[in-house]
Amino acid sequence: MPINWFPGHMNSTRQAIKDRVQAGLDVVIELLDARLPGSSSNPMLAALTTGRPSLKVLNKQDLADPAQTDAWLAFYNAQPHTRAIALDAGEKAPARALIKACRELAPLRGDMHKPLRVMICGIPNVGKSTLINTLVGRKAAKTGDEPGITKLEQKFVLEHGFYLFDTPGMLWPRIAIEQSGYHLAASGAIGRNAFDEEEVALELIAVLKRRYPERLQARYGLAELGADDSVLEAIGVKRGAKIRGGAVQMHKAAEALLVDYRQGLLGRITLETPEEMAAWRREAAEAQDRKAAEQEAARAADKERRSGKRSAASGDA
Ligand code: GDP
Repeated sequence: MPINWFPGHMNSTRQAIKDRVQAGLDVVIELLDARLPGSSSNPMLAALTTGRPSLKVLNKQDLADPAQTDAWLAFYNAQPHTRAIALDAGEKAPARALIKACRELAPLRGDMHKPLRVMICGIPNVGKSTLINTLVGRKAAKTGDEPGITKLEQKFVLEHGFYLFDTPGMLWPRIAIEQSGYHLAASGAIGRNAFDEEEVALELIAVLKRRYPERLQARYGLAELGADDSVLEAIGVKRGAKIRGGAVQMHKAAEALLVDYRQGLLGRITLETPEEMAAWRREAAEAQDRKAAEQEAARAADKERRSGKRSAASGDA
């Protein structure tokens, strides 16, 4: 696993979410990155908020492939107690659509006596502060003037009978799906010290070659696309990442590609499909089962060896 992402505060965030569930929670908003709507979804969140309806918000849709965004919306909308919408966090009208969707998910709540209590979660950099600012209509994300039930939690009153709770911090176990790690890193969600930019850029090139080859060619003026590392080298040449002797500095080329991708300069690109994500999840689960079976077998063998030794020792006596 090349990417080691250990966001801080995991335990305190988990506790804050548990406290919110206990204090009262009607809808969970999970803010996803529309460029990676599977990899940016938190595998632990559903378990902590069981039974609560979920609104998946695919943010940064302006950077994602519209056809793929439709496919992901259909995928999430087909799940029980789940709705999905796509938006750009900075735009007011779509942000209001979020309020409507929450009200539809919990139709019995939302007045003075029974306020609608909504929690918002999302990975770093997904646009949560931007969205909250848009919803609240002022520089709200850091005011803290409406404390929630824990020190971590912030409460915003979006409209009459509608409370939004923000629990900063991250809830993420190890990244079990290797491809998800690459996508999260390419998107900018993971701090740059936690991964090798060249490796992530090569993975990005592999996805782009498979799905959007013409974008890669157009952006860097490449007549054809060879092996992944030769494409990265060609990007380096185009972007002036050569040292005096003529060799290309591959890490500079990687950095240039990642910056371009994050800024949307390669066009609207989605890195994964619902089908791919399902296959990666299956593979990761199978790998985990295999590992657990191996560990169990090793434990059993060890136990047998030790009991063999013991009976040999008592036979000696
Ligand atoms: P947070 O860490 O989740 O609170 O993320 P921020 O709200 O600070 O946003 C991270 C970056 O993403 C900022 O540079 C935002 O301007 C940018 N951003 C947020 N929402 C959108 C969006 O819908 N589209 C685009 N293109 N950029 C966005």
